Amino acid sequence: MARLLSAPSRSGRVTHVEHVPARQAGQAGWPEWAPDVLVSRLENQGISGLWQHQLDTAEHVRRGQNVIIATGTASGKSLAYLLPAVADVLAGGTVLYLTPTKALAADQLRAVRALRLAQVRAATFDGDTPAEERPWVRQHANYVLTNPDMLHRSMLPGHARWSSFWRRLRLVIVDECHGYRGVFGSHVAQILRRLRRVCGKYGSRPTFLLASATASDPALAGARLTGLEMAEVTTDASPRGSATFALWEPPLTDLRGENGAPIRRTATAETADLLTDLVVEGVRTLAFVRSRRAAETVALTARRNLEEISPDLPSQVAAYRAGYLSDDRRALEKSLRSGSLMGLATTNALELGVDVSGLDAVLIAGWPGTRASLWQQAGRAGRAGQDALAVLVARDDPLDTYLVHHPEALFGRPVEAIVLDPDNPYVLAPHLCAAAAEIPLTEQDLEIFGPAAPDVLDDLAGRGMLRKRTTGWFWTSRGRACDLADIRGAGGAPIQVVEAATGRLLGTVDEPSAHMTVHSGAVYVHQGETFVVDLLDLDSDVALVTAAEPDYTTYARDITDIRVAESIRMRPFGPGELHFGSVEVTQQVVSYIKRRTQTGESLGEEPLDLPPRTLHTRAVWWTLPDLALAPLMADTDGKPVDLGGAAHAAEHASIGLLPLFATCDRWDIGGVSTQLHQDTGLLTVFVYDGHDGGAGFAERGFARAVDWLSATQEAIASCECEQGCPSCIQSPKCGNGNEPLDKAGALRLLGILLGSDTRPE
Ligand SMILES: [Zn+2]
Ligand SMILES: [Zn+2]
Repeated sequence: MARLLSAPSRSGRVTHVEHVPARQAGQAGWPEWAPDVLVSRLENQGISGLWQHQLDTAEHVRRGQNVIIATGTASGKSLAYLLPAVADVLAGGTVLYLTPTKALAADQLRAVRALRLAQVRAATFDGDTPAEERPWVRQHANYVLTNPDMLHRSMLPGHARWSSFWRRLRLVIVDECHGYRGVFGSHVAQILRRLRRVCGKYGSRPTFLLASATASDPALAGARLTGLEMAEVTTDASPRGSATFALWEPPLTDLRGENGAPIRRTATAETADLLTDLVVEGVRTLAFVRSRRAAETVALTARRNLEEISPDLPSQVAAYRAGYLSDDRRALEKSLRSGSLMGLATTNALELGVDVSGLDAVLIAGWPGTRASLWQQAGRAGRAGQDALAVLVARDDPLDTYLVHHPEALFGRPVEAIVLDPDNPYVLAPHLCAAAAEIPLTEQDLEIFGPAAPDVLDDLAGRGMLRKRTTGWFWTSRGRACDLADIRGAGGAPIQVVEAATGRLLGTVDEPSAHMTVHSGAVYVHQGETFVVDLLDLDSDVALVTAAEPDYTTYARDITDIRVAESIRMRPFGPGELHFGSVEVTQQVVSYIKRRTQTGESLGEEPLDLPPRTLHTRAVWWTLPDLALAPLMADTDGKPVDLGGAAHAAEHASIGLLPLFATCDRWDIGGVSTQLHQDTGLLTVFVYDGHDGGAGFAERGFARAVDWLSATQEAIASCECEQGCPSCIQSPKCGNGNEPLDKAGALRLLGILLGSDTRPE
């Protein structure tokens, strides 16, 4: 493995190597109240006691104190909740375990069943639970493992059928709660409030135990998520093997992209090559990539590379992603555990808890979005205590470029906050309807739903969604209120992806991203097979596809218009102003470009005819007055700054960097820039949340504006290209074909805004 870093056969380069030393084990023991039968079963499994952080967490729960445990991967968080949970069940109570994925629930079920305690009747309750088994779960299970979706759509609306479960509910475990961020997190926060209310009606007041990857301010995040005060446990006392962490930058190639920009070798191509090398060396490797498409491409490319070396090797590499049928998933997991599979390319579906241990190396193709995810993914390697290798391969975007050149932003600093906004009225409204449908809402209930609830209820009553009577608010429609909230943030029915020739259903794509991912002409990859979309039919929510093997991938482009509805917060910022407020965004996917898969080379643009979508959302924006811009216009040496191009370049790069501060995805946010905006009358750059009502990201950008925009300036400055490229100021989803862009102008514009402008001599 070391050879891979010291004498790479590849043209990419290591920009930084970090050695993370091993950590010795701390003291371990059992709490005195731990049931003997449970302790003996755990000791039979070779567990001799709890580490201090597990013990502290269990003790909080024992005292009825809500608690969040936020420690690293493989720190044994599951033992911290298993012990108090099983103790509660043995004492006659029930336990509800929530996880974002079915796979993790199945994993936890195995762990509980492995205790072989007859009194503990554990069962999963999710979309895979057969109808004939559900009544048994409702009536007899005392340890129910489910996900927020099932709670929202089934358990809470049908609460009466779960009455004996609610009545005895002692503990709610919310696992992997760092996954509940943005709009999805805001929905889950409201579902947990509905859960608390339903429990209250049945006379129980369960304790909440949250488990998270390391996060800054975990108690605060836990309080936002549950609406309850939280204790926090953050010191990890578990032993850990040493690890080597490398940052890897793919080379610029001779190829030219849009407007002649140099193209960096893709992270996907680079990762496929590194995976090939590792599999040849007999190193068991997991490659994390951002999209399902990339997972398929990495596996496909590595298999082709290996084919040339030996005909037995290609079968040792596969791709994995969420959305596979559970049988396919289980088969892949099994062969990875047994070692018949040496290399697996996956989206972060695996990150959320499928138990894959005994790996030697992890490749991470592109910044996974948060330091928490990075450590989570890297932590997949070296569980058995041997030295592990993790490599972060940069994609050609501003954030990845910034990170591989700024290791201090990754190592030895606190991880990010879990950003969510439960008071978003677009999120709150459907949950108030769902709550009223469950049990009519009364004045006393409102406190649970937060300060925005009274206004939202008035609005719902005004629109006839709820009926207000003297005793409270009632849901009187025949429809299911829970159908109003699409909690995965999608909005609208999912699009079904269907093979035109056979009618076979390949999968689903949520409605807002369908415009971007399965528009007519889009390349769509499923289980190693590549398809081209013949037609996206928005009336019947279907995308028809045909198997094909094009040598390009597609990127949709949109155009966007923005109107300021209200500036909620404003502060002076350098010579200009910084605002946070509500905006109306009109967005339309207008075309797509084709890029050659292996090289990223642009193959031209095709128009699309899709309807515009209107968003009512939140934005952060900055303005600069003409007076402050005068120095840029007055330049006599060389060419004057193209103000529109400078603002546009700064907008692209700042969208690229906001995820570092706001824990969002580049695709969760959008931007608009203009030399003269109709509402501000000034040069203005907007960055907005791409979800109705906002998701908290723009608000975070407002709060961290100096750090955010300074990093933006840094990222542009540290890219070695001359005129701008995808690693700095070009955006893959720019509706203007990345024109105009002015790299030097963007640096000067940001310099003026941040007070660091120096005129070039
Ligand atoms: Zn560049
Ligand atoms: Zn643009």
